[in-house]
Amino acid sequence: MSTVTKFFGSKVFDDRVMKSRLDEKIYNTLKKTIDENADLDISVANAVASAMKDWAVENGATHYTHWFQPLTGITAEKHDSFITPSPDGGVIMEFSGKELIKGEPDASSFPSGGIRATFEARGYTAWDPTSYAFIKGKTLCIPTAFCSYGGEALDKKTPLLRSMQALNIQALRILRLFGNDTVKCVKTSVGPEQEYFLITKEMYDARPDIRFTGRTLFGSKPPKGQEMDDHYFGVIKPKVAEYMEDLNNELWELGIFAKTEHNEVAPAQHELAPIYTTTNIATDHNQLTMEIMQKAAAKHGLVCLLHEKPFAGVNGSGKHNNWSISTDTGINLLSPGETPYENAQFLLFLCAVIKAVDDYQDLLRIAVATAGNDHRLGANEAPPAVVSMFLGDELNAILDAIENDTPYISAGKKKMKLGVSVLPKFTRDTTDRNRTSPFAFTGNKFEFRMLGSSNSIACANIMLNAAVAESLKIYADRLEGAEDFETALHEMIKKTIKDHKRIIFNGNGYDDGWIKEATEQRGLLNYRTTADCMPHLLDKKNVDMLTSHKVYSEIELRSREEIMLENYCKTVIIEANTMVDMAKCSYAPAIEKYTAVIAKNAALKKQLDASVPCGYETGIVKRLSVLTDRIAKSADELENEVLKLSDAENIDSEAYMIRDNVLGKMAELRAAVDEAETITSKEFWPFPSYADILFSVR
Ligand code: ADP
Ligand code: MG
Repeated sequence: MSTVTKFFGSKVFDDRVMKSRLDEKIYNTLKKTIDENADLDISVANAVASAMKDWAVENGATHYTHWFQPLTGITAEKHDSFITPSPDGGVIMEFSGKELIKGEPDASSFPSGGIRATFEARGYTAWDPTSYAFIKGKTLCIPTAFCSYGGEALDKKTPLLRSMQALNIQALRILRLFGNDTVKCVKTSVGPEQEYFLITKEMYDARPDIRFTGRTLFGSKPPKGQEMDDHYFGVIKPKVAEYMEDLNNELWELGIFAKTEHNEVAPAQHELAPIYTTTNIATDHNQLTMEIMQKAAAKHGLVCLLHEKPFAGVNGSGKHNNWSISTDTGINLLSPGETPYENAQFLLFLCAVIKAVDDYQDLLRIAVATAGNDHRLGANEAPPAVVSMFLGDELNAILDAIENDTPYISAGKKKMKLGVSVLPKFTRDTTDRNRTSPFAFTGNKFEFRMLGSSNSIACANIMLNAAVAESLKIYADRLEGAEDFETALHEMIKKTIKDHKRIIFNGNGYDDGWIKEATEQRGLLNYRTTADCMPHLLDKKNVDMLTSHKVYSEIELRSREEIMLENYCKTVIIEANTMVDMAKCSYAPAIEKYTAVIAKNAALKKQLDASVPCGYETGIVKRLSVLTDRIAKSADELENEVLKLSDAENIDSEAYMIRDNVLGKMAELRAAVDEAETITSKEFWPFPSYADILFSVR
């Protein structure tokens, strides 16, 4: 294997390749589009297509595909080969600018949420030159946006690009007000930390619940879980290390900056974090990372679980969206610098984020809402479903001083003393970590921690970018018309702090007392489930904001609400059906079989000698018989609740029925089966236990 620097990005049509293969003029025009959002010049497309094809063919590609992100949450591709018949009966490899720019997949089966009836199958894919093309297997993948015949976005990339554009427009207005005329473009960057579980293929195959739903629907607590905290940052097992090495190599070839990897809190749980990059590219890369994580696992006899809560009772998996705003001149607008108190521009951008998170708590919650993530938010390891922000001591003190017109006395950066003289002294971060906050300032970026591990990061960043664009717009509108810029600026920062400080919370987000304080005293929103939050996507204030920045049209929003709720309902229905099937056809018969053996044994003993005690047998037989009855009854009731869903008038009411009736029945059924597991012989139990699965990778 060659060194990493040699093969890094070897499968990417990146800047290095473009520079060496494109004519200088073409390269410069394309670069302007990529770096400064300049309109794409159609005339360059042919030249780019031809260079792209030559490069791809030299690197073993035979096909190309417009790679896109439909609303299913995964990526889609339809492969076409480069071959074109030549007059002599052979073929030549061809690829035109037209084929690069636009594709027309038969889109009838992708969800559109009513935008497009299935008979209007037309959908278009359009080249996104800001994300590099790459080769996967033998196919050149061209990142594209996906829209309907009428131009509505049917994907996640289009609104994401629009949200970045909205933020760019408003941020530039603010920068101009601060006298900055050199910045041409403002972009957001993201570094998503991705958590996942690894189990063996053998365990995966043996559990229908994991196979059908991605998570365990039954399973009693193992004797050992994560209570010892011995897995977190622990030594990586050889089999896992081999997997990670393979994964890294594949990601590096694709130009993905996989950087850190470690064991996470739960047994069998791990994390991968890339170096941050432009949001649009980070999103494409994260989709690819999830795909390759699963593919690479298969090569090692493993299965990578990306579900948010594969196991009850141990931590679930999230995705931390580290987000910042920076200029094309390399300034991070969320960097406080040495003297944040004097850094009015930083304070204004900080306030814009505070205002955005408070005004659009609901949109941030909606952006991470899925049936899977509902199990995580509010459980013990993940941020609660209530959105709040952590800023740390220094920024809090600064905001306090501004709000109350009192002088701010900087505590200065303290030198850390670790008590060991050989260790270097380093400057202590001005903020300590707060692991429980859903939205934490971490020095020069915000870490949005509510995302589920399988979520596309597109949704969260669309809402975040749009909401911050809205704050900046309100600021710019006011400041551009102000008589005295400095006074207006000061007043506005002060007003933001006063109006929105309720969203700032520096305590323990896992504390029950906090939820009470948040909802009862501060009036923050607490949407516990997807069914609760999703309909608010269509609240007037949200529709107004998102349409005014041209991030979504109203039709597009309606379609998203419908698709997300449909997805929620389908997910839970599949889980419920799987449970009923496992309970009726596997668990109940297995428990019956075991009960019969014990009962027969007791009878035999009694036959042999009536004075032999059979307390053990009788006890087990009684308990298991009660549980089998409960299992059968709960399974019937659950089945019934699912049947009733067909009476729902619309998708909102179906989601409410699921929240109110189905989930509770699922929990009842699970409780009965899990209890039976603790007293049934392992020999008779039809599926591997939690302990078997969680400790399967050695
Ligand atoms: P943690 O200690 O929070 O687990 P990690 O090192 O696992 O930190 O991940 C931090 C992530 O934040 C990385 O993906 C990193 O590239 C990203 N990051 C660092 N600086 C920025 C920034 N300015 N903007 C966006 N993301 C950043
Ligand atoms: Mg991390």
